[in-house]
Amino acid sequence: MRRVLWMVLAGAAVTAAAWFLAGLPGTVALRIASYTISAATPVAVLATAITLLLLYWLFRVLGAVVSFPATWQNWRAGRNRRTGDKAVTRALVALAAGQAGAARHEAQRALRALGPTPQTLLLAAEAERLGGNEDAASALFRQLADHQEGAFLGLRGLFRQAMARQAWHEAAILLAQAEGKQPSQGWLRDARLALAVHQENWAQAAALAGSGPAKAALTIAAAEAAGGGEAALQLAKQAWNADKALIPAALAYAHALRGTGRERAALDVVRESWKMAPHPDLVAFVVAPGDDAVARLKLFTEFVHLRQTHKEAQFALARLSFAAGALGDAAYHLDAAEAGGLGDRRAGLLRADLARARGDNAAETSHLRDAANAPLQPGWRCSGCGAEQAAWHPVCPSCHEAGSLHWGERGPPVLALPR
Ligand SMILES: [Zn+2]
Repeated sequence: MRRVLWMVLAGAAVTAAAWFLAGLPGTVALRIASYTISAATPVAVLATAITLLLLYWLFRVLGAVVSFPATWQNWRAGRNRRTGDKAVTRALVALAAGQAGAARHEAQRALRALGPTPQTLLLAAEAERLGGNEDAASALFRQLADHQEGAFLGLRGLFRQAMARQAWHEAAILLAQAEGKQPSQGWLRDARLALAVHQENWAQAAALAGSGPAKAALTIAAAEAAGGGEAALQLAKQAWNADKALIPAALAYAHALRGTGRERAALDVVRESWKMAPHPDLVAFVVAPGDDAVARLKLFTEFVHLRQTHKEAQFALARLSFAAGALGDAAYHLDAAEAGGLGDRRAGLLRADLARARGDNAAETSHLRDAANAPLQPGWRCSGCGAEQAAWHPVCPSCHEAGSLHWGERGPPVLALPR
């Protein structure tokens, strides 16, 4: 409705202007040299308007011709940008899906369309890495490292490659360069920690670890690397304070105290950890000073008034009693250990030892068969990769995760014997 109203008003204005022009009196004369052009005033006004309109269009056409190269370039740049943006998205999707071929194809397309920007160089490098072309990825990461804005990304990529090649010295140099570019990156702390672990620089690794099991495990390693003395003692103490239920931490601190003659303090440490997690290695520490089997049994009997009914306490008493020749006590404590939940092959083996000591060969054979069919004795297992380890390590030898080994039950025997 409003549009119709405006059209009516415009039509009325044009009609009024035409009527006004048509009514103008007189003539207009234009004299050029000896030529004179004269026309009625309405005709002269109309001719002037048409001439101005023609001039306007002429200048517009001329402008378009002059600016054609720039316009063409802008159009091409826009088309390349749209093509490049699509290729970037497709390359990201292919990388996330693990499709190396598609990722490489789209990343190269993005590189051609958008040029060597930090984004396209990084995508192309990651696509090459996904496809296993480490040399091509290195070249792209180096190009990225020379880029003013993308230098950190390039150095980070080269660092990861150096770590994968176990080129620790090169990795350390790249890490320092990356730190120079972006000092506040949280990633740098994790990278420094990973590098320190691989280089077995335990003191630095322990300082970089935040808290929890990894901190405790790496501090134990730092204490062992310190090689004794007050520094080793303080590190072992830190490890134990970080995780008192971690048996290697308790043992490291207790051994350090024993090494400086503080036997009572060492036993206090072991006792506190025993309260939290009874463990055969703590038993071994407690009875270590014993000269003979009777002295060892006496040492542990004095120690074990805390959690005495625990299966590990009863089993330790059974073994120490057997070694001291107290077969009846050994059998009594072994029954108590099994009643307390000890179900692995240690029980069968000790019962076989008891039967042998009593000269009962048939019972010995039967108990040995029971032991062979019983679950394996508890051991160290990595909570990260599930690998079993014969001994505790600060870092899992299989997956290199720090503080991931935990003591616990193990599975059934690989091959069960027929009864
Ligand atoms: Zn592991």
